[in-house]
Amino acid sequence: TTKLTLTAQVVIAMLLGITVGLLINVSGLNAAGSFVNEYIVNGLFKAVGTLFVNALKMLVVPLVLFSLICGVCGIGNLNTLGRVGAKSFVLYLLTTAIAVATAVIFGVTAGIGQGMQASTASTFTGKEAPPLLDVFTNIIPTNPIAAMANGEMLQVIFFAILAGVSILMVGKKAKPLVEGAELANEVMMKMVNIVMAAAPYAVFALIAKAMAELGFELLSVLVGYVLVLIAALVFHLFGTMMLLLKLLSGLNPLRFISKMRNVQVFAFSTASSNATIPVTLRTVTERLGVNNSVASFTVPLGATINMDGTAIMQGVATVFIAHVYGVDLSTSDYLVVIAMAVLASIGTAGVPGVGLIMLSMVFVQVGLPVEGIGLILGVDRLLDMMRTAVNVSGDAVVSVIVAKSEGKLDTSVYNDPTAGVTTG
Ligand code: ASP
Repeated sequence: TTKLTLTAQVVIAMLLGITVGLLINVSGLNAAGSFVNEYIVNGLFKAVGTLFVNALKMLVVPLVLFSLICGVCGIGNLNTLGRVGAKSFVLYLLTTAIAVATAVIFGVTAGIGQGMQASTASTFTGKEAPPLLDVFTNIIPTNPIAAMANGEMLQVIFFAILAGVSILMVGKKAKPLVEGAELANEVMMKMVNIVMAAAPYAVFALIAKAMAELGFELLSVLVGYVLVLIAALVFHLFGTMMLLLKLLSGLNPLRFISKMRNVQVFAFSTASSNATIPVTLRTVTERLGVNNSVASFTVPLGATINMDGTAIMQGVATVFIAHVYGVDLSTSDYLVVIAMAVLASIGTAGVPGVGLIMLSMVFVQVGLPVEGIGLILGVDRLLDMMRTAVNVSGDAVVSVIVAKSEGKLDTSVYNDPTAGVTTG
Protein backbone atom coordinates (compact mmCIF):
# COMPACT_ATOMS: atom_id res chain seq x y z
CA THR A 1 0.00 0.00 0.00
CA THR A 2 1.23 3.50 -0.75
CA LYS A 3 1.32 5.77 2.22
CA LEU A 4 0.11 9.33 2.04
CA THR A 5 2.66 11.99 2.80
CA LEU A 6 2.29 13.73 6.12
CA THR A 7 1.28 16.93 4.32
CA ALA A 8 -1.54 15.12 2.52
CA GLN A 9 -2.72 13.57 5.78
CA VAL A 10 -2.64 16.92 7.54
CA VAL A 11 -4.60 18.64 4.78
CA ILE A 12 -7.21 15.87 4.78
CA ALA A 13 -7.43 16.14 8.57
CA MET A 14 -8.00 19.87 8.27
CA LEU A 15 -10.83 19.45 5.75
CA LEU A 16 -12.43 16.73 7.89
CA GLY A 17 -12.07 18.95 10.95
CA ILE A 18 -13.78 21.86 9.22
CA THR A 19 -16.63 19.60 8.04
CA VAL A 20 -17.22 17.87 11.36
CA GLY A 21 -16.89 21.10 13.34
CA LEU A 22 -19.33 23.00 11.12
CA LEU A 23 -21.82 20.10 11.24
CA ILE A 24 -21.67 20.13 15.04
CA ASN A 25 -22.18 23.88 15.00
CA VAL A 26 -25.10 24.18 12.60
CA SER A 27 -26.92 21.15 13.97
CA GLY A 28 -26.95 22.78 17.40
CA LEU A 29 -25.28 19.69 18.92
CA ASN A 30 -22.80 21.97 20.62
CA ALA A 31 -25.38 23.55 22.98
CA ALA A 32 -23.93 24.33 26.40
CA GLY A 33 -24.17 21.34 28.70
CA SER A 34 -24.95 18.86 25.92
CA PHE A 35 -23.10 15.55 25.65
CA VAL A 36 -21.30 16.65 22.50
CA ASN A 37 -20.28 19.94 24.04
CA GLU A 38 -18.99 18.42 27.26
CA TYR A 39 -17.42 15.18 26.15
CA ILE A 40 -16.54 15.62 22.51
CA VAL A 41 -15.79 19.27 21.79
CA ASN A 42 -14.54 20.23 25.24
CA GLY A 43 -13.49 16.69 26.12
CA LEU A 44 -11.89 14.59 23.43
CA PHE A 45 -11.12 17.34 20.86
CA LYS A 46 -9.81 19.69 23.49
CA ALA A 47 -7.60 17.05 25.09
CA VAL A 48 -6.06 15.84 21.83
CA GLY A 49 -5.46 19.41 20.64
CA THR A 50 -3.98 20.56 23.92
CA LEU A 51 -1.65 17.58 24.17
CA PHE A 52 -0.28 18.37 20.75
CA VAL A 53 0.13 22.10 21.25
CA ASN A 54 1.81 21.40 24.57
CA ALA A 55 4.22 19.03 22.85
CA LEU A 56 5.11 21.65 20.24
CA LYS A 57 5.61 24.33 22.86
CA MET A 58 7.76 21.91 24.85
CA LEU A 59 10.15 21.76 21.91
CA VAL A 60 10.38 25.46 21.08
CA VAL A 61 12.86 26.76 23.65
CA PRO A 62 15.47 23.96 23.51
CA LEU A 63 15.13 23.77 19.74
CA VAL A 64 15.70 27.49 19.25
CA LEU A 65 18.54 27.51 21.77
CA PHE A 66 20.53 24.67 20.23
CA SER A 67 19.82 25.43 16.59
CA LEU A 68 20.73 29.07 17.09
CA ILE A 69 24.01 28.25 18.84
CA CYS A 70 24.78 25.86 15.96
CA GLY A 71 23.69 28.51 13.50
CA VAL A 72 25.98 31.20 14.85
CA CYS A 73 28.89 28.76 14.97
CA GLY A 74 28.01 27.62 11.45
CA ILE A 75 28.05 31.16 10.09
CA GLY A 76 31.52 31.35 11.52
CA ASN A 77 32.22 35.07 11.54
CA LEU A 78 30.68 38.14 13.02
CA ASN A 79 30.48 40.16 9.81
CA THR A 80 28.28 37.59 8.13
CA LEU A 81 26.21 37.28 11.28
CA GLY A 82 25.65 41.02 11.37
CA ARG A 83 24.73 41.06 7.69
CA VAL A 84 22.22 38.21 8.05
CA GLY A 85 20.78 39.96 11.07
CA ALA A 86 20.47 43.32 9.34
CA LYS A 87 18.99 41.85 6.16
CA SER A 88 16.33 39.85 7.95
CA PHE A 89 15.43 42.73 10.25
CA VAL A 90 14.99 45.16 7.35
CA LEU A 91 12.99 42.63 5.31
CA TYR A 92 10.77 41.84 8.27
CA LEU A 93 9.96 45.50 8.83
CA LEU A 94 9.50 46.20 5.14
CA THR A 95 7.10 43.32 4.51
CA THR A 96 5.06 44.26 7.56
CA ALA A 97 4.82 47.88 6.42
CA ILE A 98 3.70 46.78 2.94
CA ALA A 99 1.17 44.44 4.56
CA VAL A 100 -0.51 47.11 6.64
CA ALA A 101 -0.47 49.60 3.77
CA THR A 102 -2.21 47.00 1.61
CA ALA A 103 -4.76 46.48 4.36
CA VAL A 104 -5.54 50.19 4.68
CA ILE A 105 -5.92 50.56 0.91
CA PHE A 106 -8.23 47.53 0.73
CA GLY A 107 -10.30 48.78 3.66
CA VAL A 108 -10.66 52.35 2.42
CA THR A 109 -11.43 51.26 -1.15
CA ALA A 110 -14.12 48.83 -0.02
CA GLY A 111 -15.52 51.40 2.41
CA ILE A 112 -16.07 48.74 5.06
CA GLY A 113 -18.13 49.68 8.09
CA GLN A 114 -19.72 52.70 6.45
CA GLY A 115 -23.37 52.91 7.43
CA MET A 116 -22.98 50.55 10.36
CA GLN A 117 -24.18 51.86 13.71
CA ALA A 118 -21.74 52.19 16.57
CA SER A 119 -24.54 51.65 19.09
CA THR A 120 -24.03 47.90 18.86
CA ALA A 121 -20.61 48.34 20.41
CA SER A 122 -19.98 46.22 23.47
CA THR A 123 -17.88 47.07 26.47
CA PHE A 124 -14.42 45.93 25.51
CA THR A 125 -11.83 47.49 27.74
CA GLY A 126 -8.37 47.31 26.24
CA LYS A 127 -5.60 45.69 28.21
CA GLU A 128 -2.49 47.77 28.73
CA ALA A 129 -0.12 47.31 25.85
CA PRO A 130 3.48 47.08 27.06
CA PRO A 131 5.36 50.37 26.64
CA LEU A 132 7.64 50.27 23.61
CA LEU A 133 10.73 51.17 25.56
CA ASP A 134 10.18 48.08 27.72
CA VAL A 135 9.80 45.87 24.67
CA PHE A 136 13.22 47.14 23.62
CA THR A 137 15.07 46.98 26.95
CA ASN A 138 13.58 43.58 27.77
CA ILE A 139 15.49 42.02 24.88
CA ILE A 140 18.32 41.46 27.35
CA PRO A 141 17.18 39.02 30.03
CA THR A 142 18.28 39.50 33.62
CA ASN A 143 18.13 35.75 34.00
CA PRO A 144 18.53 33.46 30.98
CA ILE A 145 16.99 30.47 32.78
CA ALA A 146 13.91 32.51 33.63
CA ALA A 147 13.75 33.67 30.01
CA MET A 148 13.74 30.07 28.85
CA ALA A 149 11.27 29.02 31.53
CA ASN A 150 8.88 31.75 30.46
CA GLY A 151 9.43 31.23 26.75
CA GLU A 152 10.52 34.83 26.21
CA MET A 153 11.70 34.33 22.66
CA LEU A 154 13.59 37.58 22.05
CA GLN A 155 15.49 37.02 25.29
CA VAL A 156 16.29 33.42 24.43
CA ILE A 157 17.44 34.52 20.98
CA PHE A 158 19.68 37.19 22.48
CA PHE A 159 21.25 34.79 24.94
CA ALA A 160 21.79 32.06 22.35
CA ILE A 161 23.46 34.47 19.91
CA LEU A 162 25.73 35.79 22.64
CA ALA A 163 26.61 32.21 23.64
CA GLY A 164 27.31 31.27 20.02
CA VAL A 165 29.46 34.34 19.45
CA SER A 166 31.44 33.62 22.61
CA ILE A 167 31.97 30.01 21.58
CA LEU A 168 33.32 31.31 18.27
CA MET A 169 35.67 33.66 20.09
CA VAL A 170 36.97 30.92 22.36
CA GLY A 171 37.91 29.10 19.16
CA LYS A 172 39.44 25.63 18.84
CA LYS A 173 39.15 24.73 22.51
CA ALA A 174 35.36 25.08 22.29
CA LYS A 175 35.00 22.47 19.56
CA PRO A 176 33.40 19.87 21.88
CA LEU A 177 30.74 22.44 22.76
CA VAL A 178 29.98 23.06 19.11
CA GLU A 179 29.73 19.33 18.45
CA GLY A 180 27.56 18.95 21.54
CA ALA A 181 25.20 21.66 20.34
CA GLU A 182 25.03 20.06 16.90
CA LEU A 183 24.17 16.71 18.43
CA ALA A 184 21.58 18.28 20.71
CA ASN A 185 20.10 20.03 17.70
CA GLU A 186 19.84 16.76 15.82
CA VAL A 187 18.09 15.16 18.78
CA MET A 188 15.63 18.06 18.97
CA MET A 189 14.82 17.65 15.28
CA LYS A 190 14.11 13.96 15.91
CA MET A 191 11.72 14.99 18.66
CA VAL A 192 9.97 17.31 16.21
CA ASN A 193 9.50 14.39 13.82
CA ILE A 194 8.07 12.21 16.57
CA VAL A 195 5.58 14.88 17.60
CA MET A 196 4.66 15.54 13.96
CA ALA A 197 3.55 11.96 13.53
CA ALA A 198 0.53 12.83 15.67
CA ALA A 199 -0.23 15.92 13.62
CA PRO A 200 -3.17 14.66 11.53
CA TYR A 201 -5.19 13.68 14.62
CA ALA A 202 -4.29 16.88 16.43
CA VAL A 203 -5.08 19.12 13.47
CA PHE A 204 -8.47 17.44 13.11
CA ALA A 205 -9.25 17.93 16.81
CA LEU A 206 -8.06 21.54 16.97
CA ILE A 207 -9.96 22.62 13.88
CA ALA A 208 -13.14 20.67 14.65
CA LYS A 209 -13.27 22.32 18.08
CA ALA A 210 -12.70 25.82 16.71
CA MET A 211 -15.33 25.40 13.99
CA ALA A 212 -17.88 23.86 16.38
CA GLU A 213 -17.60 26.95 18.55
CA LEU A 214 -17.73 29.63 15.87
CA GLY A 215 -20.73 31.88 15.96
CA PHE A 216 -22.06 32.40 12.48
CA GLU A 217 -24.61 35.09 13.26
CA LEU A 218 -21.74 37.38 14.17
CA LEU A 219 -19.91 36.45 11.05
CA SER A 220 -22.80 37.66 8.89
CA VAL A 221 -22.99 41.05 10.62
CA LEU A 222 -19.29 41.57 10.13
CA VAL A 223 -19.17 40.01 6.71
CA GLY A 224 -17.63 43.13 5.11
CA TYR A 225 -14.83 43.26 7.64
CA VAL A 226 -14.13 39.55 7.36
CA LEU A 227 -14.16 39.45 3.57
CA VAL A 228 -11.94 42.49 3.10
CA LEU A 229 -9.52 41.14 5.68
CA ILE A 230 -9.37 37.76 3.97
CA ALA A 231 -8.89 39.43 0.59
CA ALA A 232 -5.97 41.48 1.92
CA LEU A 233 -4.41 38.40 3.53
CA VAL A 234 -4.70 36.41 0.30
CA PHE A 235 -3.35 39.30 -1.77
CA HIS A 236 -0.35 39.70 0.51
CA LEU A 237 0.42 35.99 0.72
CA PHE A 238 0.04 35.03 -2.92
CA GLY A 239 0.72 38.41 -4.54
CA THR A 240 3.15 40.61 -2.64
CA MET A 241 5.17 37.89 -0.94
CA MET A 242 5.53 35.70 -4.00
CA LEU A 243 6.52 38.72 -6.08
CA LEU A 244 9.19 39.61 -3.52
CA LEU A 245 10.39 36.02 -3.49
CA LYS A 246 10.68 35.98 -7.28
CA LEU A 247 12.28 39.44 -7.52
CA LEU A 248 14.76 39.08 -4.67
CA SER A 249 15.75 35.44 -5.00
CA GLY A 250 14.69 34.37 -8.48
CA LEU A 251 13.21 31.16 -7.05
CA ASN A 252 9.98 29.53 -8.18
CA PRO A 253 7.10 30.78 -5.97
CA LEU A 254 4.87 27.80 -6.80
CA ARG A 255 7.38 25.43 -5.29
CA PHE A 256 7.43 27.56 -2.18
CA ILE A 257 3.66 27.54 -1.87
CA SER A 258 3.35 23.80 -2.26
CA LYS A 259 6.04 23.13 0.32
CA MET A 260 4.58 25.56 2.85
CA ARG A 261 1.16 23.94 3.06
CA ASN A 262 2.10 21.93 6.11
CA VAL A 263 3.39 24.89 8.05
CA GLN A 264 0.33 26.94 7.16
CA VAL A 265 -2.08 24.26 8.34
CA PHE A 266 -0.17 24.04 11.63
CA ALA A 267 -0.22 27.79 12.10
CA PHE A 268 -3.92 27.81 11.19
CA SER A 269 -4.82 25.12 13.70
CA THR A 270 -2.68 26.39 16.58
CA ALA A 271 -3.10 30.14 15.90
CA SER A 272 0.41 30.54 17.25
CA SER A 273 3.57 31.40 15.32
CA ASN A 274 5.62 30.39 18.34
CA ALA A 275 4.11 26.94 18.67
CA THR A 276 4.67 26.47 14.94
CA ILE A 277 8.43 27.23 15.13
CA PRO A 278 9.46 23.55 15.18
CA VAL A 279 7.47 22.87 11.99
CA THR A 280 8.60 26.07 10.28
CA LEU A 281 12.24 25.36 11.09
CA ARG A 282 11.97 21.80 9.82
CA THR A 283 10.26 22.82 6.58
CA VAL A 284 12.55 25.75 5.86
CA THR A 285 15.72 23.68 6.35
CA GLU A 286 14.78 20.23 5.10
CA ARG A 287 12.24 21.06 2.39
CA LEU A 288 13.24 24.53 1.19
CA GLY A 289 16.98 24.00 1.50
CA VAL A 290 17.82 26.93 3.77
CA ASN A 291 21.02 26.30 5.70
CA ASN A 292 20.48 26.02 9.44
CA SER A 293 22.97 28.83 10.03
CA VAL A 294 20.41 31.23 8.50
CA ALA A 295 17.14 29.47 9.38
CA SER A 296 17.96 29.05 13.06
CA PHE A 297 18.19 32.81 13.21
CA THR A 298 15.47 34.00 10.87
CA VAL A 299 12.71 31.59 11.87
CA PRO A 300 12.49 32.22 15.63
CA LEU A 301 13.17 35.92 15.10
CA GLY A 302 10.44 36.08 12.48
CA ALA A 303 7.96 34.21 14.67
CA THR A 304 8.51 36.88 17.29
CA ILE A 305 8.82 40.14 15.40
CA ASN A 306 7.41 39.54 11.91
CA MET A 307 3.63 39.49 11.71
CA ASP A 308 2.33 40.51 8.32
CA GLY A 309 -1.03 38.87 8.88
CA THR A 310 -1.51 40.56 12.23
CA ALA A 311 -0.52 43.90 10.74
CA ILE A 312 -3.10 43.41 8.00
CA MET A 313 -5.78 42.73 10.59
CA GLN A 314 -4.78 45.92 12.39
CA GLY A 315 -4.95 47.98 9.23
CA VAL A 316 -8.36 46.66 8.18
CA ALA A 317 -9.72 46.89 11.74
CA THR A 318 -8.61 50.52 12.04
CA VAL A 319 -10.41 51.53 8.85
CA PHE A 320 -13.48 49.53 9.86
CA ILE A 321 -13.80 50.98 13.36
CA ALA A 322 -13.06 54.51 12.12
CA HIS A 323 -15.93 54.21 9.65
CA VAL A 324 -18.31 52.70 12.19
CA TYR A 325 -17.62 55.50 14.69
CA GLY A 326 -17.63 58.16 12.00
CA VAL A 327 -14.06 59.22 12.74
CA ASP A 328 -12.29 60.81 9.78
CA LEU A 329 -8.73 59.62 9.52
CA SER A 330 -6.34 61.70 7.44
CA THR A 331 -3.48 60.42 5.35
CA SER A 332 -1.05 61.28 8.13
CA ASP A 333 -3.23 59.33 10.57
CA TYR A 334 -2.89 56.34 8.29
CA LEU A 335 0.88 56.78 8.24
CA VAL A 336 0.78 56.67 12.02
CA VAL A 337 -1.32 53.51 11.78
CA ILE A 338 1.30 51.93 9.53
CA ALA A 339 4.15 52.87 11.85
CA MET A 340 2.26 51.69 14.92
CA ALA A 341 1.22 48.40 13.33
CA VAL A 342 4.85 47.69 12.44
CA LEU A 343 5.94 48.43 16.00
CA ALA A 344 3.02 46.44 17.43
CA SER A 345 4.00 43.52 15.25
CA ILE A 346 7.49 43.60 16.76
CA GLY A 347 6.05 43.82 20.25
CA THR A 348 3.43 41.12 19.65
CA ALA A 349 4.44 37.68 20.81
CA GLY A 350 3.45 34.90 18.42
CA VAL A 351 0.69 33.46 20.57
CA PRO A 352 -3.07 33.27 20.00
CA GLY A 353 -5.09 36.42 20.30
CA VAL A 354 -2.42 38.95 21.19
CA GLY A 355 -2.83 40.82 17.93
CA LEU A 356 -6.11 42.13 19.24
CA ILE A 357 -4.50 43.43 22.40
CA MET A 358 -1.85 45.27 20.45
CA LEU A 359 -4.60 46.76 18.32
CA SER A 360 -5.57 48.91 21.29
CA MET A 361 -2.13 50.50 21.08
CA VAL A 362 -2.79 51.48 17.47
CA PHE A 363 -6.25 52.82 18.33
CA VAL A 364 -5.01 55.00 21.16
CA GLN A 365 -2.43 56.59 18.86
CA VAL A 366 -4.97 57.69 16.27
CA GLY A 367 -7.72 58.52 18.74
CA LEU A 368 -10.14 55.70 17.98
CA PRO A 369 -12.33 54.35 20.80
CA VAL A 370 -10.64 51.25 22.20
CA GLU A 371 -14.00 49.71 23.08
CA GLY A 372 -14.59 49.47 19.32
CA ILE A 373 -12.45 46.35 19.47
CA GLY A 374 -15.41 44.69 21.16
CA LEU A 375 -17.19 44.79 17.80
CA ILE A 376 -14.73 42.50 16.09
CA LEU A 377 -13.97 40.31 19.09
CA GLY A 378 -16.50 37.65 18.14
CA VAL A 379 -14.97 36.81 14.78
CA ASP A 380 -11.37 37.21 15.83
CA ARG A 381 -10.83 33.56 16.57
CA LEU A 382 -11.13 32.43 12.97
CA LEU A 383 -9.23 35.45 11.69
CA ASP A 384 -6.44 34.79 14.17
CA MET A 385 -6.01 31.35 12.63
CA MET A 386 -5.82 32.82 9.14
CA ARG A 387 -3.47 35.66 9.94
CA THR A 388 -1.11 33.32 11.81
CA ALA A 389 -0.78 31.24 8.63
CA VAL A 390 0.23 34.44 6.81
CA ASN A 391 2.60 35.41 9.65
CA VAL A 392 4.61 32.18 9.43
CA SER A 393 4.65 32.28 5.62
CA GLY A 394 6.32 35.68 5.84
CA ASP A 395 8.98 34.25 8.14
CA ALA A 396 9.74 31.51 5.63
CA VAL A 397 9.83 33.89 2.64
CA VAL A 398 12.36 36.12 4.35
CA SER A 399 14.41 33.09 5.43
CA VAL A 400 14.59 31.89 1.83
CA ILE A 401 15.46 35.35 0.45
CA VAL A 402 18.18 35.99 3.04
CA ALA A 403 19.65 32.49 2.63
CA LYS A 404 19.72 32.80 -1.17
CA SER A 405 21.49 36.16 -1.00
CA GLU A 406 24.09 34.70 1.35
CA GLY A 407 24.74 31.60 -0.75
CA LYS A 408 23.22 29.54 2.07
CA LEU A 409 20.37 28.02 0.09
CA ASP A 410 20.60 24.61 -1.52
CA THR A 411 18.60 25.14 -4.72
CA SER A 412 18.57 21.43 -5.53
CA VAL A 413 16.67 20.84 -2.27
CA TYR A 414 14.40 23.81 -2.94
CA ASN A 415 13.52 22.53 -6.41
CA ASP A 416 13.12 18.88 -5.44
CA PRO A 417 9.42 18.27 -4.73
CA THR A 418 10.16 15.24 -2.57
CA ALA A 419 12.96 16.72 -0.42
CA GLY A 420 12.25 16.24 3.26
CA VAL A 421 8.87 14.59 2.72
CA THR A 422 7.86 12.20 5.46
CA THR A 423 5.20 9.58 5.26
CA GLY A 424 3.24 8.85 8.38
N1 ASP B 1 -1.75 34.55 16.74
C1 ASP B 1 -0.82 35.36 16.02
C2 ASP B 1 0.50 34.63 15.89
O1 ASP B 1 0.84 33.83 16.72
C3 ASP B 1 -0.61 36.68 16.68
C4 ASP B 1 -1.89 37.45 16.64
O2 ASP B 1 -2.15 38.13 15.65
O3 ASP B 1 -2.70 37.35 17.57
O4 ASP B 1 1.22 34.83 14.95
